[in-house]
Amino acid sequence: MDTTSFTKKSLGLDVAGEPGLTPPTKPARFPKKPKLGSGKARTKKRDIPEGLWTKCPSCDSMIFDKELDENLKVCTKCSHHFSIGARERIHSLVETCTFEEMDANMESVDILNFRGASTYQSKLDDYRKSTTLKDAVVTGIGKIGSHRVALGVMDFSFLGGSMGSVVGEKLTRLIERGTEGELPVVIISTSGGARMYEGMFSLMQMAKTCGALAYHAQRRLPYISILTNPDYAGVMASFASVGDLILAEPKAMIGFAGPRVIKDTTQAELPPGFQTSEFLLDRGLIDAIVPRREMKDRLIEYLDYLMVGKKAQAKI
Ligand SMILES: [Zn+2]
Repeated sequence: MDTTSFTKKSLGLDVAGEPGLTPPTKPARFPKKPKLGSGKARTKKRDIPEGLWTKCPSCDSMIFDKELDENLKVCTKCSHHFSIGARERIHSLVETCTFEEMDANMESVDILNFRGASTYQSKLDDYRKSTTLKDAVVTGIGKIGSHRVALGVMDFSFLGGSMGSVVGEKLTRLIERGTEGELPVVIISTSGGARMYEGMFSLMQMAKTCGALAYHAQRRLPYISILTNPDYAGVMASFASVGDLILAEPKAMIGFAGPRVIKDTTQAELPPGFQTSEFLLDRGLIDAIVPRREMKDRLIEYLDYLMVGKKAQAKI
C-alpha cells in the first residue's frame, strides 16, 4: 500500500518557513538587552592611549610614537615632516658628545611691561615649563662629520619660534663666535616672526643678526640657512633668507606674510602650492629641498665643498 509521507521537505515548507499547522519549534527570540556599561567599554576600546600613537595629518595613518621618534618625526607612510624640537634636531645632526651649548641660561625680560589677556612674563614662565627651554633657540658649537660648526636651531614650540631679543642676541653671539673661530654657520629656522611682546626690541634683532652675518661673510666663511615648517615674517625677512646656501625641508610653508593676508591684499587667486618649499625652489628663492633624514649627510657634503682650504684655519 502506497503511503504518502507528508514530510516538511515534500511540502516544500522548509524553505518557505514553518507551515501554519506546525507549532514553532524554536523559542521566540527577543533582541539582546545591552549589558550595562557596554557602551563605555566600547568607547574605551576605540580610545587611543595618549602618548602612544600619533595621527598623520597628511595620510591619516596612525603611527606608533616610538617609530615616529626613531624616524626623526617623519611619517613612515607618506614622509610628512612633523615639527621636531630643537634638541632632537641637534641630536640628529651633530656627532655624539660634541655639542657645547652657548648662552644656555639667557632669558627674556618683560621690558615693555606688556599687558594683554595674560602678561608676557606669565607666558614666558608657562613656555619655559612646558618646553624645558629658556627661549626659542638653542645655539652652540658642534661637530657635523669632520666639521666644527656654529649651529643655531629654533624651536617652534616656544612661543611660535618668535624672535625676541634673546633669540636675536643668541644668534648674533653664535655668528660672531663663528667669525672669530673661522667656522661655518648653520641656522635651522622655524618661526612665526618677530615677538610682538617685545615691540621694537624684537624688530631690531633683524638688523643685528644680518649685521653679524655680513662680518662673517667678509671673512669668506659659509653660512647655510635651513628653512623648516613654518618660517615666516621677521625671521624670513632677515637672517633666514640671506644664506650662501638656502635649504628647506619638503612641503615647508615659507613666506613673509601668510597666504590669507596676501590674498586679501592683492584680491587675486593664489597659485596652487603657493609658499611651499617646492614652489619657492621652482622660482629660485631656495637652493635645494632636503628631506630630514638626509639632512646630516647632505650638510657634510656641502661643508666638504664649501670649506675646502679653510679646514686648517678652524681654531675653536
Ligand atoms: Zn603620513
